[in-house]
Amino acid sequence: MPYAQEMRSNGVESPGSGKPGELALLARIRARAARAPDSTLRLGIGDDCALLRLRPGEELAVTTDLSIAGRHFRLDWHTPEAIGHRTLARGLSDLAAMGARPVAAFLSLGLPRDLVQSSKRREPSHASWSKTWIDRFLDGFLSLAEAYRTPLAGGDLAESPLPVADIVLTGAVRRGRALLRSGARPGDLLYVTGRLGGAAAGLAQLEQLAKAARRSKAARQNRPARPFQTPRIPGNLEIQLAPHLFPQPRIAQGLWLARRSLATAAIDLSDGLSTDLARVCEESGVAAEVDAAALPIHPAATEVQAIHGGEDYELLFTASPSIPMPRSIAGELVTCIGRILRPRPAKPLVTLITARGLRPLAPLGWEHFS
Ligand SMILES: [Mg+2]
Repeated sequence: MPYAQEMRSNGVESPGSGKPGELALLARIRARAARAPDSTLRLGIGDDCALLRLRPGEELAVTTDLSIAGRHFRLDWHTPEAIGHRTLARGLSDLAAMGARPVAAFLSLGLPRDLVQSSKRREPSHASWSKTWIDRFLDGFLSLAEAYRTPLAGGDLAESPLPVADIVLTGAVRRGRALLRSGARPGDLLYVTGRLGGAAAGLAQLEQLAKAARRSKAARQNRPARPFQTPRIPGNLEIQLAPHLFPQPRIAQGLWLARRSLATAAIDLSDGLSTDLARVCEESGVAAEVDAAALPIHPAATEVQAIHGGEDYELLFTASPSIPMPRSIAGELVTCIGRILRPRPAKPLVTLITARGLRPLAPLGWEHFS
């Protein structure tokens, strides 16, 4: 049942009552979501539907993204704040890739009871009850929502044996100005924002950290660590892990490109350069070559992580060579990494130019059911 309908038909317990039930949780979410007023969102949580009002001449962009524990995040690797942030960042990044301005987010959660209820023990150093997992998830989610002026306008809640977060993002784009995957033309240059591979390098480091924590805990307690243990990220690793735990969607860069009609095609790098570039080539009916020496590799990452690692959420876009592209857009580095070629039957879709010659670049990024 949607948040709105549930609250209308049943009345709501007071937010601070400490009761663990669904209604109290809905009230807490509603109270926190209400702090993001926006003129485009005419009506948020509290009725049967949200009402969105676009400006004249705008089109509505809609994207949806499903995150499942064990596939997209792990409770023993990722803090609740990072899972909340990443859930929203994935959707915002799709809006960025279309050149859309965020309008409203809709969040549906399926959660085990443990993650919603307050723990019964008091933290020795705090007078208040310790925060629940869901409250910390919302901390991460809503602080990113506020930074990108994206109000939470509705969603759904259910008890579930496996944690699941489904996000729907709506955005607005000037009619005919959306950046599509299908517009790349032979001769166009290929660009990326930011640096590549940082998220994959962070994930590898997080895996090591989680394994070490599990081993020491299991040894200390002489039994396997509980799977629902929230991880602790050492302060000195926060910056290195940030590209993976707290990626920043390139909304400002997408808007900049769309407003000026500079890009012929765009996609966000969610599944890795090799996979996402192949998607642009397929949708545009073209081929591409990437210059390995030109890749803006993140200082902590390897070339393989930069090419095949996913979840960087940078923008990959194409533009006519006649356009003088700035070195940075809205404060973020922009690098030319290759060019678009005519389709070449029986030849690889994407070629990597290396010091030792050309080699085919197979899409080895993230792919479900593969
Ligand atoms: Mg995308």
